[in-house]
Amino acid sequence: MRGRAIFLAAMLLATTALAGAHAQQPDIVQEHIYHTHAQLTIDVNAWADDHPDIVDLTSAGETVLGRALHVVRISDWSVDTKPDGTAKEVVYIDGGHHGNEHLGTALAFLVAEHYIEGWAEGDEAVVQVLQTTELHILIMLNADGNDMDTRWNVRQVDLNRNYDHHWNEHDETQPGSGPFSEPETTANGIYMREVVPNADLYVTMHTGVWIMLYPWGIIPDQPVDWELFHYIRDVVHDGISDIPIQNANQGLYPNSGTSRDYGYGVMGFPTFTFETDDEQWLPGTAEPLSSRLGEELDVMEYLIENVWYWRARLEVTNVVVEDDVRLEVRNLGHATTANASLEYIDGDGMVAWASPMFTVNASSSASPTFAFDRGVLTGGGSWNLNYQKRVIDAAQWVNESVPSEVVDLRPSTDGAALPIGTAPLLVASLIAAVAVEAKRRGIDLCGEDGEH
Ligand SMILES: [Zn+2]
Repeated sequence: MRGRAIFLAAMLLATTALAGAHAQQPDIVQEHIYHTHAQLTIDVNAWADDHPDIVDLTSAGETVLGRALHVVRISDWSVDTKPDGTAKEVVYIDGGHHGNEHLGTALAFLVAEHYIEGWAEGDEAVVQVLQTTELHILIMLNADGNDMDTRWNVRQVDLNRNYDHHWNEHDETQPGSGPFSEPETTANGIYMREVVPNADLYVTMHTGVWIMLYPWGIIPDQPVDWELFHYIRDVVHDGISDIPIQNANQGLYPNSGTSRDYGYGVMGFPTFTFETDDEQWLPGTAEPLSSRLGEELDVMEYLIENVWYWRARLEVTNVVVEDDVRLEVRNLGHATTANASLEYIDGDGMVAWASPMFTVNASSSASPTFAFDRGVLTGGGSWNLNYQKRVIDAAQWVNESVPSEVVDLRPSTDGAALPIGTAPLLVASLIAAVAVEAKRRGIDLCGEDGEH
């Protein structure tokens, strides 16, 4: 049966070649034949030509033998931001670190295809994702190894042991001559640091034991952001897939210098190694790839659609400024932040006061009170929250403004008047509060709940 599928696919491949080199590979072939780099090049260029509104094709660099590291960037490029004006979410995916793990590379390809074809078909969930999110997918990192059907790159290095994170501490097989000694890993590291440092999800795709692995590989300890990883594990198991989800060190084996540990430990991304099952061989599959990988695609859709939640998301519900500052803040995200602070920004834009650091647990709230020096209050001041998106040291810091309408600036209890220049701010915030209340009621009357 397998042989017949290969024969059929080979016939179709021959027909395609006659039909012209510019055409994208027909689905029937794509469903059974793993990509060579040449075929991938044809397919990603066809995507870019046919869907310029959502596909922006670029290259992260080249392999040792000069093959382009195609990155398919998919989003609604007609808009720079989300409809509410905030920055789009960023998701980073790579495939093909190991050139003989074709099913993992196929999963990276199919994720891209799902969003491109879904957009063309007007799939509502896909449109929603692409209007709010950028997907960056480097489908085939070890393109030289892919075409030779070997794990290693052409210099016989295991690319997934070559990253600059505790490089070779576990005495790995063929980790390279030093961290980032290979052009493929160097290019991937640069892409992470320079193009997608804001990503709130990184998934690196492999083939092996059917499992999803979160950090760490280097040590057996649970990562400090364990709540986030366990939350995702529990939701996936609750209704999407029974795929085992574990920390890599215990779920598979200890390893060092992997892109997963680099993505989390150096970049601060929530990172998963997605291992499809163990079909490693070229050139064909009996079962269509998209049905074979249907469950894996469901998991990826869940991770992508919910990327907004994969960090701390602090929302201030109330700030009372009196003799002290009393803050009420909730965390809408599923990651904890351990070092948040409230800042008062004076009229010159300088941080005039900052609270001590405080923690807001994942999906929870906090109500800290801070001693305050009212002398810092000036006209035209504002309040910001400064915090890390996750607990891991490498996590990105964000600085987000606190809406003036939730700030309740009161006179001090000893009867002293507000400092000169702050009264207009108070009036302004009262007016804003009324406006917000009216707007909120309007939304309530419509029965809408747009909060994401
Ligand atoms: Zn692998």
